Amino acid sequence: MRLSMARVKQSAGNAIDFNFDERINHIKVKRENVRFVEPVKVEGTLENLGNRIFEVRGLIRTAVEYPCFRCLKNTKVNFNLIFSIKFSDIPAISREDEVVAFSGEEIELRPYILEEILLNWPSQILCRPDCRGICPRCGADLNNVNCSCEDEDTDPRLAALKNFLKKD
Ligand SMILES: [Zn+2]
Ligand SMILES: [Zn+2]
Repeated sequence: MRLSMARVKQSAGNAIDFNFDERINHIKVKRENVRFVEPVKVEGTLENLGNRIFEVRGLIRTAVEYPCFRCLKNTKVNFNLIFSIKFSDIPAISREDEVVAFSGEEIELRPYILEEILLNWPSQILCRPDCRGICPRCGADLNNVNCSCEDEDTDPRLAALKNFLKKD
């Protein structure tokens, strides 16, 4: 994912489009390797904004596989992310907030793209919105089976009510 700066460096307003489609095996999430199940596709524009600030903006599309928060089943998670990163090769500018330093004629985008994915990592991954999870007592996958643990826990008054309703 190397972006050549040569064609935009000369003057403000210069811009080029780019398109990457790269196979990446893993992304590290909380020290754990998470597998990409689709290539990482990045398309966008590199633009010279003037004052030696260069903006890379576009769209990241990919998918990973991650265990469901409730039942641990491997779940495909799709990413469709709009991103924008500003770079500068002048240290004084890149020390400012939100501007990333670079030097030379190229920017290797890959680490920044992986960072964007991490920043947008879902707080809770579910195999489906109503996943019922695993029974904490017997370990049964409650999406597939109904274990009887829940009934045993029921408040006796509720149990009486349940039995009453069952009679109908
Ligand atoms: Zn689940
Ligand atoms: Zn159970």
